[in-house]
Amino acid sequence: MPLLERVESLFRTVIGKEDLYVPIRDNLLYEILQQETSHIGVQHEEDDLLVLMDGATACELTNGPIMAAKARTIVLLDNGESLPWSPGDNVVKHACTPPLERGDRILLLLSNTISLALFGEHVHAPEEKSSGAFLGGWTVRRVTVARLAETLLGKAHQGLLPESAPATDAEDSISAAMMRLTALHAGALESREQSVAVEKNDLLSILDILKAISSKRHAHDILFVFVEQIARIISTERCSIVRVWENEAEGHVLVSHEDEHLRDCVISLQKYPELVEVIQSGETLIINDVATHPLTMEFSAMLKKAGIASLLVLPIVRSDKHVGTLLLRAARRQGAFTVREVSFFQIVTEAAANALERAHLFESIQIANERLEQLAITDSLTGLYNRRYLHERFEEEFARATRYQLPFSCVIFDIDDFKAVNDTYGHLVGDVVLKEIAERMISCTRRVDILARYGGEEFVILLPQTDNEGATIEAERVRSVMESHTFSQIADGQRVTVSVGVATLDPDTMRDNEALLRAADEALYEAKRRGKNCVVVHEPDKKD
Ligand code: GH3
Ligand code: MG
Ligand code: MG
Repeated sequence: MPLLERVESLFRTVIGKEDLYVPIRDNLLYEILQQETSHIGVQHEEDDLLVLMDGATACELTNGPIMAAKARTIVLLDNGESLPWSPGDNVVKHACTPPLERGDRILLLLSNTISLALFGEHVHAPEEKSSGAFLGGWTVRRVTVARLAETLLGKAHQGLLPESAPATDAEDSISAAMMRLTALHAGALESREQSVAVEKNDLLSILDILKAISSKRHAHDILFVFVEQIARIISTERCSIVRVWENEAEGHVLVSHEDEHLRDCVISLQKYPELVEVIQSGETLIINDVATHPLTMEFSAMLKKAGIASLLVLPIVRSDKHVGTLLLRAARRQGAFTVREVSFFQIVTEAAANALERAHLFESIQIANERLEQLAITDSLTGLYNRRYLHERFEEEFARATRYQLPFSCVIFDIDDFKAVNDTYGHLVGDVVLKEIAERMISCTRRVDILARYGGEEFVILLPQTDNEGATIEAERVRSVMESHTFSQIADGQRVTVSVGVATLDPDTMRDNEALLRAADEALYEAKRRGKNCVVVHEPDKKD
């Protein structure tokens, strides 16, 4: 069975979304996409790339050997062609069942960040390929690409396909947009032979922009690459993206292609009537002569001074309305914007909007992760670090202090007769006391000190770069602050006190952080023994 038939039946029966691949009916388009797809492989920076291709494709790719060197694994499907370069250790040969035919072509890239498949068949014998008879398709939809790879590899796929997270809706929507763009241009290529060169150029530019923006994860980087590439491809003197929040009289220039470091430059919308117009209409605005256009006439002297003769403003439409309106503003020193240029702007703007959604999603996942990480290291009652985190930091700080021979001390304290507090006032009041103690600790220690709740009513303070004298002063401060504090739920005149143990790193006798903590704990025990509400400093052991 020819490859295309097999792929199409896969689409019909397994995936059921035939619209999600771009049909390719043109040999020229196929060749462009084939080279561009392999470029994406060559530029991939991680070492997780799986390439699946047939022998003939390997021969046709101009940068096949470079991509082969980059890929983690190359699966070479047999269609009667032998490799034109010597295979490395990462090449695995695989015979499909049923076997591929000579005219079949497949080039499939799969990694954690890339999913791309280009497939099809030369309808006649490959020798006749100049006749342009080719039937195939191109898809970047992750599920589809993975399914295709599984189908072609059969049982052998296990262990070869990267285990990656399932695609998100936003990623799918980028895929769909990329495919629509390509389909649009594929259609144009088919119907207008005379403009093939121009269309090919545009298609390549779009692919360039898509490649550039899909390699970026953060919204600012995406926007910058976007304006930079647009300004490069369509000559414009100014190209920037402005965000406008609803009902605000100011706009925020988020990026400008002239200055990579520009972020959030505030402008008064009064001076930019073209932006206001697009916010209101939601439509692309083209002003091909600022001196005669009614919107800009009033400002024409100022615009002329800035070297601007024509303007193009497009809304960047995103489904998330909470991010304000984003506008792309391009300005030109001379000459009008052509219909082709405007449609180019519109297409890439749609792709940028999708990339932005993905970036936003990624950034919100990151924030959620950071919050989870924060939760994992804090004690829920007091908000101080928990015991697990204390141990981690203790090891780090101990190692740093030993390596650089820096002083390092540890203070541990325990509430005196806390059981009696609970017994008298109840457990809930006991909890409030613990919280207030934590608050007092935060206000009386340095920012660099690490405060943790070690256990029920025991607390530890790590004091980096603090010698024994400094730590003793600190310990005494904590003790006296607690002694003099009036706790909100405890009867007037009744004090809550703490006993404190102090120890300082002694590299001769303390081999690890546990030894330092043990020393502080022994001192605390001694403080309890001496009658509580006091500070005891651990005496370093004599080495001999
Ligand atoms: P000492 O002066 O010798 O330290 O006496 P103590 O009563 O403080 O010590 P003990 O170890 O006998 O009792 C500690 C008490 O701390 C018992 C326990 O119920 C209480 N405790 C531990 N964790 C919490 C907590 O999260 N909330 C409350 N309310 N009490 C706690
Ligand atoms: Mg206690
Ligand atoms: Mg205790």
